[in-house]
Amino acid sequence: MDVAGLGKQFGDEPVLSDVSFSVRPDEIVALLGPSGCGKTTTLRCIAGVETPDEGTISIDGDVVESGDVSKPPEERHVGMVYQNYAIWPHKTVYENVVFPLKYTDNPFPESDYEHRVTELLELVEIAHLKDEPATNLSGGQQQRAALARALVHDPDLLLLDEPLSNLDKNLRTSMRDELQKLQHEVGVSVLYVTHDQEEAFYLADRVLIMNDGEIVERGDPSTLSRNPESPFTRQFLGGWNRFDGELTEVDGERLIEVPFGVFPLADVDVVPESIPNGPVQCFLRPTDVTVTADRTDAGAHFEAHGTVVTEGILGELYETTIAIDDADTEIVVRSETHHDLSRGGDVPVQFDLGSVQVYSGRGQPDAP
Ligand code: ATP
Repeated sequence: MDVAGLGKQFGDEPVLSDVSFSVRPDEIVALLGPSGCGKTTTLRCIAGVETPDEGTISIDGDVVESGDVSKPPEERHVGMVYQNYAIWPHKTVYENVVFPLKYTDNPFPESDYEHRVTELLELVEIAHLKDEPATNLSGGQQQRAALARALVHDPDLLLLDEPLSNLDKNLRTSMRDELQKLQHEVGVSVLYVTHDQEEAFYLADRVLIMNDGEIVERGDPSTLSRNPESPFTRQFLGGWNRFDGELTEVDGERLIEVPFGVFPLADVDVVPESIPNGPVQCFLRPTDVTVTADRTDAGAHFEAHGTVVTEGILGELYETTIAIDDADTEIVVRSETHHDLSRGGDVPVQFDLGSVQVYSGRGQPDAP
């Protein structure tokens, strides 16, 4: 599937601008971004339930949207699953799942419909519920039925719009694994829309980061999570400490001034490699900050003092928020070690300057 130069406005409001990307055969691509950034609109344009103002969409080599061409959804060979399941409660599971076979282009003769529906229900493990009214199904079972319905006509592309977000946490995790297995078994290309980075990074072969109707960055999950290039991605992916700073030159030395101190530009990691004097943004991973004095690394480092504001366990790490003395700034620290710090206590904070990543400008991206 290829999308090129997709643009869309609602009234005077631009919602998508020059959106271009591909989903290769058998690939899972996640479209990840904050609420309102245009993910669902992109998906709806691909499905053919929304018409873009500009751009071209082709699915399996077939142009479905371009200028005067705008194929209806049933001719696009796509399956779609929504956040709210969107299955008909008063029809049986069978009636729900057989629907796309009756109303969309597909390779199955009518005599095979029942066999095909059963095959899909077995795949999503709800064959025993075939004749039940959909109202009798739990949330997880309804989402399985929705998946069977989206796949029954053997689409070239499966479009998933936050399919797991209505499920409770445990079910979400197991459905996520099943979804991955199912995709391998069926061998269908998937475009997965979500604002949940954990889900996107777990499932996808490639992730597209969207903000304000534009794709701001793309890459494989491990590169993107470790080394995002755009400041927006860095902040959206969360957890990073971020400080505004000012880059100046004093007696031939370039220095960055942040709210709690000054450090030489030569000691930090600059992204990209050179930046002009002026406003900068600095990012620091919480796991790169320590609160004890035991340092093993002799490299250039920065030290400050602060007061513990909050403390708690986050997954397998201890997280402490520290207000830096004499600066209106807090630093989040994550560590495998529990330092048993008491709230309001005074602690030293330190980090290697080499772990500070500095970008030019003061783009204040929206918080996720
Ligand atoms: P969410 O994760 O909250 O679903 P999203 O990234 O999927 O968000 P969209 O649903 O694509 O975002 O919406 C993008 C923008 O377009 C939002 O500002 C939304 O209010 C607006 N929008 C979406 N559909 C319409 C519509 N039919 N008419 C007017 N504005 C719309």
